[in-house]
Amino acid sequence: MQVSRCPKCGTRKTKLAPRKTLSDNVLSSLTIYPFRCQLCASRFRTFLGCRANNPRRSFERVDVSFPVWFKPRLSSSYDMGQEGVIDNLSIRGCRIRCTTPLTAGSRLEMEFQHSNCSFPITIDEAVVRLSGENTIGLRFVRLQRSDELRIRQIMDLWLPETAQPIISVRRR
Ligand SMILES: [Zn+2]
Repeated sequence: MQVSRCPKCGTRKTKLAPRKTLSDNVLSSLTIYPFRCQLCASRFRTFLGCRANNPRRSFERVDVSFPVWFKPRLSSSYDMGQEGVIDNLSIRGCRIRCTTPLTAGSRLEMEFQHSNCSFPITIDEAVVRLSGENTIGLRFVRLQRSDELRIRQIMDLWLPETAQPIISVRRR
C-alpha cells in the first residue's frame, strides 16, 4: 500500500483533488492525478497506476463542535454579533450552526474556541458561501499566520493518519 506524501511538508494527510484543468484531464488518462495536502494546502500530482474517482472537494472536513462568535466584518465594536457552533472544519473553511443565518456573499470576522486551555482562534475575514436554514458554510479569506498554524494542528490531530489510503498497482 502506498500513500501519497505531500512533497512540501511530508505529511501523509493528503487527498485526491478535483480535476479542473485540461492537463488534469489529459494526465488522468495516464492515472496521474492531482492531490491536495490537507495540512499545508499544496497541490501536487502523483502517478497512481490505477483508476481513481474525481472527488468534489479538495479539503476533507472533520466533525467538530466548537463554540464560535461572529459578526459582519468592520461592524462597530459595540456589535456583539452572534454565537453559534462550528460543526465541521477544514484548513480552508467551516460550517456553522446558528439561529440567524447570513446571506451568501456576506463577510464576517469570527473567533472560535477549540479547547478550554488556549486562546480563541481568530479569522479576520471569512465569506459566506452557502446559507441554509440554520447553517452557513464559510470560506476563510484572511487570517494571521499563527492562527492558520493552529488550525493546521487541529486538522493534524483530527484527521486520520491515512485519510485516504491509495493502493498502487504497478505492472512491469
Ligand atoms: Zn503539505
